[in-house]
Amino acid sequence: MAIRAEGVIARWSDRLALEPSAPHITLGEGNTPCVESLTIGPSLGLASLHFKLEGLNPTGSFKDRGMVVAVAAALQAGSSAIICASTGNTSASAAAYGGRFGLRTIVVVPRGHIASGKLIQARVHGATVVSIDGAFDLALRVVRELCAHHPVTLVNSVNPYRIEGQKTAAFEIVDELGDAPEVLALPVGNAGNITAYWRGFREEHRDGRATRLPRMLGGQASGAAPLVLGHPVDNPQTVATAIRIGNPASWQGAIDARDQSEGLIESVDDAAILDAQRRIARFEGIFCEPASAASLAVLERAVADGAVAPGTHAVCVLTGNGLKDPGAVEASLSPILEIPADADALARAIEA
Ligand SMILES: *Cc1c(COP(=O)(O)O)cnc(C)c1O
Repeated sequence: MAIRAEGVIARWSDRLALEPSAPHITLGEGNTPCVESLTIGPSLGLASLHFKLEGLNPTGSFKDRGMVVAVAAALQAGSSAIICASTGNTSASAAAYGGRFGLRTIVVVPRGHIASGKLIQARVHGATVVSIDGAFDLALRVVRELCAHHPVTLVNSVNPYRIEGQKTAAFEIVDELGDAPEVLALPVGNAGNITAYWRGFREEHRDGRATRLPRMLGGQASGAAPLVLGHPVDNPQTVATAIRIGNPASWQGAIDARDQSEGLIESVDDAAILDAQRRIARFEGIFCEPASAASLAVLERAVADGAVAPGTHAVCVLTGNGLKDPGAVEASLSPILEIPADADALARAIEA
């Protein structure tokens, strides 16, 4: 369908704070499906559970929604280079859009804590990749400092165009489901996305397209849960590298989304995250990355705690594609059956 290739800017141009003269560039981002859960939602007693498949964006994560708008604004401003700090997906997205639209792209990543697929994406699209000895928070500080003195456009989610583009996912959910859900669950790292969704849902409600506002349910990894603890975390640790962040840039946006929506931001441990990831893959046919599964893990925790009632209509945002980070799941998989190349051996092997 032509609508998929239309992209976020053309589809929502009248609702984005972007100069009308900015170029309508696209890689076909947005318009991702909202797929109903057949197994997990019913087993939790929910009235409905949908997964928003953001891993189907062009570079495999929701970052493309905001990146396309940030890059359009950079082009309009006459910029010739973009830069970001990244836990992986921002760098993949910046590199792809930068490469396609003729901008030099520089990405700064925490050494040793980037999923292999994401780092390959940044490199294959032609970005200059710099790794530092330190976590994302330090990389962002270094990049912001550089931007103060060099003519290069920062495309982290502190760039307001990123949040503008990302809010379109909330518009799409209302479009697809006919109303806002009662609960929207998503992972929270640097907290740009929870800020963006909350803005998007409020705009839908204000304009009469949604009859209600969802409660926002944020999932942080227990080793990287500054918003749950109420203070920054110096050395954040989690297998979910996309949310391995100790001092979120959009801290206040996340707190506002939580409090104004009467929602929650809770932590879930790595075992719960990986277990949720495995079940989404096994029973729903969707391979998301570990961070994405924090959305389901936190929803399950809230149902178990009684904070979310059975009979609720919920959506989990599956923020990124599991193919980016096969190493995170490999150890938990059952072994491959190795047999000689003959039909009898095959029959014996699959009997059990
Ligand atoms: C960036 C990212 C997140 C975290 O989003 P924030 O806006 O930083 O809170 C979660 N999951 C995936 C897959 C991501 O790429």
